[in-house]
Amino acid sequence: MKFTPISGHDGGVPAADGCRSGGVCVAGVDVAGLSEEGLRGRLKEIGRAESRLGAMKSQVLAELSRRHNAVTAERVAREELQSSKREARNEVETADRLTQLAETSQALGDGAIPVGHARLIARAASEGPIDESVVVEAAKREDFDQFSKTMRSHQQEMSDDDGMGILEKQRSRRTARAFLSRETGMFVLSGEFDPTTGAHIDTVLAAKVKELWNAEDPKARRTPQQRMADALAELILEPEKGKAKGIALMVVADYDVINQELVNARLADGTRIPMDELVRLACDAEILPGVFRPATQEMNLGRKRRTASDIQRAALIYRDKECIGCGASAHWCFAHHVQFWSNGGPTDFGNLVLVCNDCHHGIHDDGWQVARDAGSGRWKTKPPHDPFPDDGVDSMRSAQRNLVLRR
Ligand SMILES: [Zn+2]
Repeated sequence: MKFTPISGHDGGVPAADGCRSGGVCVAGVDVAGLSEEGLRGRLKEIGRAESRLGAMKSQVLAELSRRHNAVTAERVAREELQSSKREARNEVETADRLTQLAETSQALGDGAIPVGHARLIARAASEGPIDESVVVEAAKREDFDQFSKTMRSHQQEMSDDDGMGILEKQRSRRTARAFLSRETGMFVLSGEFDPTTGAHIDTVLAAKVKELWNAEDPKARRTPQQRMADALAELILEPEKGKAKGIALMVVADYDVINQELVNARLADGTRIPMDELVRLACDAEILPGVFRPATQEMNLGRKRRTASDIQRAALIYRDKECIGCGASAHWCFAHHVQFWSNGGPTDFGNLVLVCNDCHHGIHDDGWQVARDAGSGRWKTKPPHDPFPDDGVDSMRSAQRNLVLRR
C-alpha cells in the first residue's frame, strides 16, 4: 500500500517537513482565524488523516497477529493504545480481514473512506460474498447510516440463499450482558440481537414507552432516556402488566402476480429479510393481509376522527418507512396531519406523514415545514426559514441550534 502525504491543499494549511516520507500530517492551526470554508476544509483534512492513521494502525495489528496470533495482537493493542478489551478485539479482527481486502485497504490508506466504513466492509466480507469494488465506491460517497443500509442490501443481493445464511450468522452473534459497573455503581443491561428479533423487541418497547408517556403528568415529564429505562424495568419486573394491545410486527412483501407468490420481504424500515424468515414469522403471527388502495374510503376518514386508523398507520409505515424528519424507527412514530387538524386538515392518507416525537415537536413549536421532495416524491421536513442568515453567535438562535443538534 502506498501513502501519499497530506499536503495543505485541502485545508489551506502548509504541510510540515515530516510528512514527505509518506506519513500522516496535519499542521496545527489557530481555528479561530479560519473562514467557514476553511473550517470545513480543515475537518475534511482531519477526516482523511484519521482514515490514513486507521490504515496504518490496521497494518501494525495485522502484522502482530501474523507474527504471533490475534490474542497477542489484542494484548499489545490494549497495552499500547489503552483500548478496552472489546475495542482491541474489534480492531484486530478488522485488521486481519483487511489483509484480504486490497481495494478497501487502498481506499482507507488513501483517506478516501472512513475507518467505520472499512470496518463494515470487512465484517460483511467475513459473513458472505461481496463485490468489493461496488461497496468501496459506495463507501466513498455515502454517510455511515446510508452506507450501512447499502451494505445490508448488497449482502442480501450477493448471497445465494436469499440472505438466510447472513441472518443465521447474525442470530449466532446475539449477545447480552447484565452487570454492576465498577465505574459508576450502576446496573448495566446491554444486548445485541438479529434484525427480526430486534424489530419485535422494538415494537414492544415502543408500545410500553407510549403507555408511560400517556400516563405522565405533562408538566413533569421524564427524559426519553429515563422513560426508556422505566419501560425496560417494567417489562422485566412486572410482566403481568403484559403487552399493550395492538402490538404488531409489520412485515411487508410484494405480490408477484405472474408467478403468484410473495417476493421481496422486508421489515418496516426496509431491511430485507429472507423469505424463509417471513414464513417462520407468519407461522406464529396473526396475519392481516393488507392491500393499500390510497383512494378507498377507509384510507380517507376526513374530519370523522382525528387519530389515524390502524390501516392508515400500516399504510404510512409502508410508504414512509421511518420518521420523515430524522429517520427514527417507525415503531416510535405517529401520524401527523400535514395541514394541521386544528386548521381543518382531514385525517386522509394524503394529508398524513410519519414523524417521531422530536420532529413532531419541531413542526408544531419550532416552525419546521413538511414538504414533498419534487424528485423522489417522498415527504421530508425542512428547517424553518433562517431569520439570521449571518452566522454570528446570537443567543436568540439557541432554540434553533439545539434543534439542529438534536437531529
Ligand atoms: Zn424524527
